Amino acid sequence: MKVFKFGGASLRDAAGLRNVASILQHYKNEQLLIVVSAMGKTTNAMEEVVVAHAKQTGRAHELYNAVKEHHYAIMRDLFDEGDEVFTTVSDTFVEGEWVLDDNPAEDYDYMYDQIVSMGELVSSKITAAYLTRAGLPTQWLDARDVVATDNTYREGWVQWDKTKSNALKVAKPMLEKGGFVLTQGFIGSTSENFTTTLGREGSDYSASIFSYCLDAEGMFIWKDVPGVLNADPRLFENVIKLDRLSYREAIEMTYYGASVIHPKTIKPLQNKNIPLYVKSFLDPHAPGTEISSDVEETYPPIVMVEKNQALLHISTLDYSFVAEHHMARLFGKAADLRIFVNMMQNTAISFTICVPNIGDRIDKYIAEMSDEFKVKKEEGLELLTIRHYTEDTINNLKKGKIVLFEERIRNTVQMVVKNVPTIERRDADLAGSKS
Ligand code: ADP
Ligand code: ASP
Ligand code: MG
Repeated sequence: MKVFKFGGASLRDAAGLRNVASILQHYKNEQLLIVVSAMGKTTNAMEEVVVAHAKQTGRAHELYNAVKEHHYAIMRDLFDEGDEVFTTVSDTFVEGEWVLDDNPAEDYDYMYDQIVSMGELVSSKITAAYLTRAGLPTQWLDARDVVATDNTYREGWVQWDKTKSNALKVAKPMLEKGGFVLTQGFIGSTSENFTTTLGREGSDYSASIFSYCLDAEGMFIWKDVPGVLNADPRLFENVIKLDRLSYREAIEMTYYGASVIHPKTIKPLQNKNIPLYVKSFLDPHAPGTEISSDVEETYPPIVMVEKNQALLHISTLDYSFVAEHHMARLFGKAADLRIFVNMMQNTAISFTICVPNIGDRIDKYIAEMSDEFKVKKEEGLELLTIRHYTEDTINNLKKGKIVLFEERIRNTVQMVVKNVPTIERRDADLAGSKS
């Protein structure tokens, strides 16, 4: 069997769903498990609902209704009036309404997962119904009956043994029945049957979990790019498609921020030697990128950019050295707050880390460390990582930037940079004659 994953970009509107169905027509006689994300930017819209509900702004229902209406508009385009999918989807949306009718839960992350997961639930119901109507009989599978996680809401930690036995018990018999099986990416369930999510952009990871547990012969993710490129095409011109990548290179790239694939996706595939194909849903016959073992490791320079980074310059209040017991506390708190340290450097009296500047976590970190440390935050920075660098690539990337931090390890260079401030040019004739 094969596992396919279609992300939000491929399912953003009715034309997108029609295109997905036309791709799947070519695989009609194959055993396929299809993983789908929420449609288009639904997850972002749901996050706004969560914030509105948490802050009780009075707008949560209005924002939620806009998401609903967007889905109904797509459905009106795809289905006959009176199709039972309208009832199925409206029953699903009701579950989110119940959450909004209650007072906001104390645990924000728990509430987030209960609301945001609606995006994948409705998207999968619409897509399964549409494929079935289009002559591709498709069974709908609730991913929460398979993907078991702990109760770390918003970042559910997969319980592999349980997930594997669920997959064999629940998903395998469905696949053996024939026809496609379609399920949700991004979501899982705790042992008490509460919904969890696996972290933003986690649907690629879900597909990898299913591939691993069901011993897929291959996993295919369908994207709006021709494959994995040597840089994000939204940020750079003249990018090159990489035809083949080793698991190792793909792990490194995604770890350093190549957002085309969720970083947790590759490892489970590598463990079972399952090839991953990244293909374009806009040009489905083109070969895309194959990620597998035994790839000759010659690559062009590959560039990753992580925006919205901050440097934290940390020193002790009593001017003592930053010693091991300080580090233990500094890292312990970072782990508690789930702050990911991208780079670090220590000198005798200071310690600097580069971290994503997300939400209020960094400010919380600074406040909680203030009894013992002075922490100076420098924000608005970018972290650039270049694998297989050449001096030319580095110099090109440095243009217009100030480098605050640079580190080279073997074939990888990392730089924390900020833009050179643009100084307004005044029209003064400095050398000119006095009037
Ligand atoms: P999905 O629809 O599955 O959610 P994403 O939008 O998450 O897809 O991922 C595809 C996007 O990833 C592309 O549109 C592209 O802008 C971006 N991207 C970032 N880095 C790369 C890269 N190295 N190669 C290809 N695409 C990249
Ligand atoms: N819908 C989720 C998100 O946007 C998961 C995914 O698309 O991978 O983060
Ligand atoms: Mg995505």
